[in-house]
Amino acid sequence: MKAIVVGAGVVGSSVAYRLAQAGADVTIIEERRPGGGTSSVTYAWVNACEKLTSEAYFRLNFAGRQAHEDILAEFPGADWYHRPGVLQWQDAEAEAGGRDGTDPLAKLQQLIAWGYPAEVLSLDEVRKLEPEINPDAIGNAPVIHYPRDGWLDPVPYSGALVAAAQERHDATLIEGHVDRLVLTGERCTGVVLGDGRTIEADVVVNCAGRWLNDIVQTPEHRVPLAPTLGIVAYTPPAGTPLRSALRTPLVNMRPDGGGRFLLRSNELDRLLATEEGAVPAHPQAQELMRRAIRTVPALKSVAVEAVRIATRPIPQDSYSAVGPVPGLSNYYAVVTHSGVTLGAFLGELVADELVHGHQRDELAEFRPNRFFN
Ligand SMILES: Cc1cc2nc3c(=O)[nH]c(=O)nc-3n(C[C@H](O)[C@H](O)[C@H](O)COP(=O)(O)OP(=O)(O)OC[C@H]3O[C@@H](n4cnc5c(N)ncnc54)[C@H](O)[C@@H]3O)c2cc1C
Repeated sequence: MKAIVVGAGVVGSSVAYRLAQAGADVTIIEERRPGGGTSSVTYAWVNACEKLTSEAYFRLNFAGRQAHEDILAEFPGADWYHRPGVLQWQDAEAEAGGRDGTDPLAKLQQLIAWGYPAEVLSLDEVRKLEPEINPDAIGNAPVIHYPRDGWLDPVPYSGALVAAAQERHDATLIEGHVDRLVLTGERCTGVVLGDGRTIEADVVVNCAGRWLNDIVQTPEHRVPLAPTLGIVAYTPPAGTPLRSALRTPLVNMRPDGGGRFLLRSNELDRLLATEEGAVPAHPQAQELMRRAIRTVPALKSVAVEAVRIATRPIPQDSYSAVGPVPGLSNYYAVVTHSGVTLGAFLGELVADELVHGHQRDELAEFRPNRFFN
């Protein structure tokens, strides 16, 4: 089988690697660099504990977490998956079932019932684990600890998987722009590149993330997306010994290598109107830094060093869309939020479906056809 994979982010690189490993003749087409799209501007928490709105979605993400652990055995020495644990707390208002509508302790019970490693820590236990955290930033909120959670470095991950697809399984990487699909009646037979070349294939797997629909010239074959903007601020190396990732009402923050911290907040993301203006003086970046200092006072003399803004590829109903698109054979879309968590597992599922012809039950609720009925 000849397969084209458009896009080599955390999703496309996983799909390309697994397809090539399963025996497909794979051509990867990437116009930036592996991992250079949304996968380079992300919090990258590999988790299922934020996915409780649907058990099927929780299970998919739980398997995603496992797939990231499993794939490490194929890449000896890989250091892209960090699992020092994640600490999460809500303020008293949210604790009462308020502001964001979640009761953290009910959430904890649900997670434990579904087999997710999670526990409540006392303030003393938090202090022992992370002495730099300001107890006032926690207040009386219960702190949930996910001892086996952590984050991925999606760019090294994507680069390694693309290289392995090429070196181990003879995949081809084309550094170029896909302009549109080649359509023969209701069949997709390849892609046309920006330089006019046509590449033919038995199947085109679209992993272009937020740009998914840009290469689909027929509006009736576009998966509806509801993208959102996200801003990430980075500190310079800070020398502050915080090991865990934090998920808090003020700020989500975690180490980002070399002593740097990565800062973000859903609340501040909602204030964004454009991807433009990603500079340290950005008001949301400055607010992120103020919130980080309230949470970890040892950062008081640290300033924002860099800022990035990205668009999340989110299908309209917020869940993954993975599979064929009605009315267009030999075309397969893979687009999702939480692509960092899901990438490695989606690669396995897509290869199993396309190369071995196994319909995977894990994807039953996440087919693109739900948008077309
Ligand atoms: C602020 C923020 C925080 C996030 N936090 C998390 C989190 O904690 N956990 C989590 O799991 N997820 C998180 N996400 C979501 C996650 O980052 C994305 O779901 C994931 O990166 C998407 O990966 P992708 O491979 O689908 O897309 P991308 O990484 O965007 O890859 C698509 C690739 O396709 C290429 N491409 C596009 N069009 C073309 C074309 N026409 N021709 C050739 N190449 C093309 C692009 O250059 C790009 O490299 C977050 C996102 C943001 C923005």
